[in-house]
Amino acid sequence: MSKTAVITGSSRGIGAAVALRLAKDGFNIALNDLNEGMFENNTIVNDIRALGVEAEIFCADVSRYDQCESMVKAIKERFGTIDALINNAGITRDCLMARMSEEQYDTVISVNQKSVFNMMKLAGNVMIKQKHGKIVNLASVAGLYGNPGQINYSASKAAVIGMTKTIAKELGSRNINVNAVAPGFISTPMTDKLTDEQKAKILEAIAMKRYGTVDEIAGVVSFLCSEDSSYVTGQVIEISGGLSM
Ligand code: NAP
Repeated sequence: MSKTAVITGSSRGIGAAVALRLAKDGFNIALNDLNEGMFENNTIVNDIRALGVEAEIFCADVSRYDQCESMVKAIKERFGTIDALINNAGITRDCLMARMSEEQYDTVISVNQKSVFNMMKLAGNVMIKQKHGKIVNLASVAGLYGNPGQINYSASKAAVIGMTKTIAKELGSRNINVNAVAPGFISTPMTDKLTDEQKAKILEAIAMKRYGTVDEIAGVVSFLCSEDSSYVTGQVIEISGGLSM
């Protein structure tokens, strides 16, 4: 039986690594990002197809419920099932609270938090009918411990943790596992934006004295989408090299 995974924001970074890893695990892959252009200069679609599974791009702004609705319908029509959903799309608009605009706050909440409601509700309904499914939400250590300059981002990721636990309770009896991963500092375009001074300070606090890689996130997501984690739900797995202990 073929199975399908949907990964939001998967043209690059953690999302692209998760897509490739789940393809290696045998999932057909529904890729998503804001527009087709974001896939133009990368080889992810061909890389996934070379593994012997199917890959298709579905463009949508996941902060928009109407766009998620059309996307989930199109994925269901193309692949027949949605067996795993990875809510990965996320943004930062960092700024100390005193200087943060309402727009900076609202945009981050809408992309990082509202999107998770949109996709869990819509793909969750498909999974309820199938009587199985795996949902993995990308939280962050910022949502667990807070981070100066990230009131918007920390709020959105703390909310994702609450949403994960709530929907794990709502959907547990339907054979749907809902978990979150909370990465620390992972080398991606998102963290490339940090200054050298910020990077040095962060490294000091990490027990393993290095940033994580996208593949180290993908490995844990793979476990959460596998039958090896069939009795794991409502959990938040921190992947931070021992940032906070
Ligand atoms: P990234 O490289 O910036 O990739 C995120 C992807 O999501 C980008 O392609 C982005 O497109 C896309 N996206 C943004 N808004 C979207 C929307 N409304 N609809 C659909 N796609 C959208 O980020 P990353 O570092 O791989 O992070 C992936 C996830 O892990 C995020 O949720 C992030 O918060 C979380 N995380 C990352 C780290 C880290 O250290 N990197 C740590 C903790 C948690 P654009 O280029 O247009 O924005």
